[in-house]
Amino acid sequence: MENTPKKQSNVYVNVTKQFNKAADLMKLDPEIRKILAKTTNEITVNFPVKMDDGRIEMFTGYRVQHNNVLGPYKGGLRYHPAVDIDEVRALATWMTWKSAIINIPFGGAKGGICFDPQRYSAAEIQRITRRFTFALGCNIGPEYDIPAPDVNTNAQIMAWILDTYVSTQPPHERQACTHVITGKPVEAGGSLGRDKATGQGVVYTIEEWAKDKKFNLKGATYFVQGFGNVGSWASILMKQHGSKLIAVEDVTGAISHHDGIDPDDLNAYVLETGGVAKYSRAKPLDHKSFMSTEADIFIPAALENQITKETAFLLNVILVAEGANGPTDIEGDEILQERKIDILPDILCNAGGVVVSYFEWLQNKRSEFWDLEEVDSKLRKLLVNAYMRVRDTAEKYKTDWRTAAYIVALMRLEKVYKERGIFP
Ligand code: NAD
Repeated sequence: MENTPKKQSNVYVNVTKQFNKAADLMKLDPEIRKILAKTTNEITVNFPVKMDDGRIEMFTGYRVQHNNVLGPYKGGLRYHPAVDIDEVRALATWMTWKSAIINIPFGGAKGGICFDPQRYSAAEIQRITRRFTFALGCNIGPEYDIPAPDVNTNAQIMAWILDTYVSTQPPHERQACTHVITGKPVEAGGSLGRDKATGQGVVYTIEEWAKDKKFNLKGATYFVQGFGNVGSWASILMKQHGSKLIAVEDVTGAISHHDGIDPDDLNAYVLETGGVAKYSRAKPLDHKSFMSTEADIFIPAALENQITKETAFLLNVILVAEGANGPTDIEGDEILQERKIDILPDILCNAGGVVVSYFEWLQNKRSEFWDLEEVDSKLRKLLVNAYMRVRDTAEKYKTDWRTAAYIVALMRLEKVYKERGIFP
């Protein structure tokens, strides 16, 4: 597909370079650096699933656990044909930094299955999900490793994982396992506000940036890549500030309208048709023109490596708010910095999802049910505090915000390792 950007570099190489830059600058203890440079466990499972027509297909799934010194492993599950061990390693590592920046008691993990869910029926996806959960077995668990949604996975898939996991536990322990997964439907033990949490977090961090810069969000223009969970919610919540969505791209294509696209109306259209490409209240756009859109804010909310040495020069914005994980590669990052385009880095900007996952986990453990106001106000507080830590660290070290975000995370991890020591 012409407007489908390809993966351009190995994302784990990017994570390692980002880590090294921050570790050098903050002078991370060399012994602790050795530990954090490695993932802890890498689980690969190959498993058979019966298709609707009776054939058997083999699938490969992964769960990478990067670090759990701050708490249980935590991170999403992705269903996508580009999922491989390196991508999952990178995503797991980012989760460790994210939880550490926000100050929640979780470590980092990520998982996924390498397949294209568009090519399978709902019944097949359910069987693939259940068989993957079974294959992972006790490598996940409510106090050990807690998955959540990511690209092409949703609350329904989380409910199937919950049901499969508890079905494999002894009967008297089943009710104590609801927190094995977060991002569940609310009726199945999910939290209010988890569906919009990542997009909400993106908007809270943009609000803080706007306050700092004395930038008025009312009337500001923005464009969004990816109109799934993160992109659609970020778009809808930006509308509440009176900001104007002027272009959107998803896997089906890109569209734009200078007078603005109504995110609620587009969301209803996408839920019905599966993509933005044929939305009649906007005109189609090629990928290069989409990336060149003149606007105040760009919110990448799709996949990795979209802002690269080829595309970073095209951007015509003052802020990139990274809803996606790893949307900017190393060269893209350098170009944005040279061009003085502000960046709210992924490990800060999209942390709203893991925060409300933490709230869901807490509610399940305590048999509580919080109202939406409580969830939102606690989320905002944690994100604003993290934003301020990153901003102040960037100032202190005279560095870019991504490196500053890493330094905030690494300092916390370094402190805990020093306090606990290394066994034996
Ligand atoms: P999703 O599956 O709900 O949506 C993904 C969107 O990206 C879809 O609109 C899809 O069409 C689009 N897309 C896919 N390939 C594309 C391409 N090549 N070009 C343009 N658009 C493309 O996924 P999501 O949960 O919204 O996740 C999006 C990003 O946000 C990912 O990087 C994910 O890791 C990150 N993230 C998600 C959460 C969460 O809570 N879901 C939390 C933190 C970070």
